[in-house]
Amino acid sequence: MNHDDLKDWSKRAADWAHDYHMTLRDRPVRAPLVPGAVAAQLPPHPPEAAEPMEAIWADFERIVPGAMTHWQHPRFFAYFPANAAPASMLAEQVVNAIAAQAMLWQTSPAATEMEEVMVRWLAEALGLPGGFRGTIHDSASTATLAAVLTMRERALDWAGLRGGLAGQPRLRIYASDQTHSSIDKAVRVAGIGQENLVKIPTDSRHAMKPGALLGAIRADRAAGFLPAGVVICAGGTSIGAFDCPGDVLAIAKAEGLYTHVDAAWAGSAMICPEFRALWQGVEGADSIVFNPHKWLGAQFDCSVQFLADPVPQVRTLGLRPSYLETLEADEVTNFNEWTLPLGRRFRALKLWFLLRAHGLEGLRARIRNHVAWARDLAAEIARRPGVEIVTEPSLSLFTFALRDGDRATAALLERINADGRVYLTQTMHRGRFVIRVQVGQFDCTRDDVMCVLEVLDQMLAA
Ligand SMILES: *Cc1c(COP(=O)(O)O)cnc(C)c1O
Repeated sequence: MNHDDLKDWSKRAADWAHDYHMTLRDRPVRAPLVPGAVAAQLPPHPPEAAEPMEAIWADFERIVPGAMTHWQHPRFFAYFPANAAPASMLAEQVVNAIAAQAMLWQTSPAATEMEEVMVRWLAEALGLPGGFRGTIHDSASTATLAAVLTMRERALDWAGLRGGLAGQPRLRIYASDQTHSSIDKAVRVAGIGQENLVKIPTDSRHAMKPGALLGAIRADRAAGFLPAGVVICAGGTSIGAFDCPGDVLAIAKAEGLYTHVDAAWAGSAMICPEFRALWQGVEGADSIVFNPHKWLGAQFDCSVQFLADPVPQVRTLGLRPSYLETLEADEVTNFNEWTLPLGRRFRALKLWFLLRAHGLEGLRARIRNHVAWARDLAAEIARRPGVEIVTEPSLSLFTFALRDGDRATAALLERINADGRVYLTQTMHRGRFVIRVQVGQFDCTRDDVMCVLEVLDQMLAA
């Protein structure tokens, strides 16, 4: 295959993509497959001879689309959305074609400067005060790891980078019991250790108890531990829990701890001023992560980390061997020093396309609809006998369960998903198996959302 072939096949792929998106509603949302079904269709050995693109494409069409769970399906209500607005897909096409590495300004001036400007645009769009800078990672897990490493090194006065952690005091990181598993993973791989992630209990509204945080920090200091940082939950994955950032940040600041806010999902909603009360005080944080690849419409991957002061993170992650020295090193941003990998994708272009193609007003309208429709759906479900809303909508996420108990609820979920018209997932909340519903797919309509009710009613009647 050469570039002339690519030109023709790209057109064919574009036609295929259009057809795929236009027929999504006719497909089951979740792949109706047993494990191993795809692998069984692939030859056990790689081909020695070149194969014609016709044959490769035919196999793709035969094997792949029917074996996917369709994340862009308008009735995908599972996990969180992974929206890919058409404008962001288009940007990704040209990024693929350019195929650059955005590690230094010199290796990718447009990518670097556009990344700086897009981070500023988004900080403003979310209502953050001027002064925040930041970078774009692949995922929130990576951004959180970067923040946890910065917490570690700042607390150790950057001694860990050279000497390792042996002989250092035991570090402590604090987070509520509602935070995402990416925080657990970050403390594990940062060498801090799971046992030193202190899970602070939450109140009846699922927010971290500030008094319990302060008590834990003081007890740890008395026991010889070194408190390093606090991770604040702004829209938890399980049920959409929010800490009160202002209260937590006041304690963290007074205790000299570094702070990171995980708003991976809910951050997108903050383009709507009416939701910002949920993370009131957030402007005092050192680091904030949110994923435009979730609710905002930027093709995966695209996770934005805002930094009040980039210096501690750059001091932690930056490393400049001589072959990366450039003449402009003192004047320009070299984003590899802000992030874990050296090579980096050009992710800012899809934000530029997306924000311009929809405008903030267009994106706000979608998010507002999703929140309103989730409330409508929850209100309807609450009226079904035998069914209970377990957690009320937090933005566009709520949970429900059958009064008959966990086994009945799990069986109901399996039947709903086997039907294929909608896709929901579960979580454990306060020891109870509950069904999650999140509304957030870019192209979903109110009818798509109400389809959950239609399917639920049929399952309850059966
Ligand atoms: C999705 C999510 C994450 C993990 O995001 P990735 O980008 O997949 O790493 C972390 N925290 C919260 C609250 C999330 O919703």
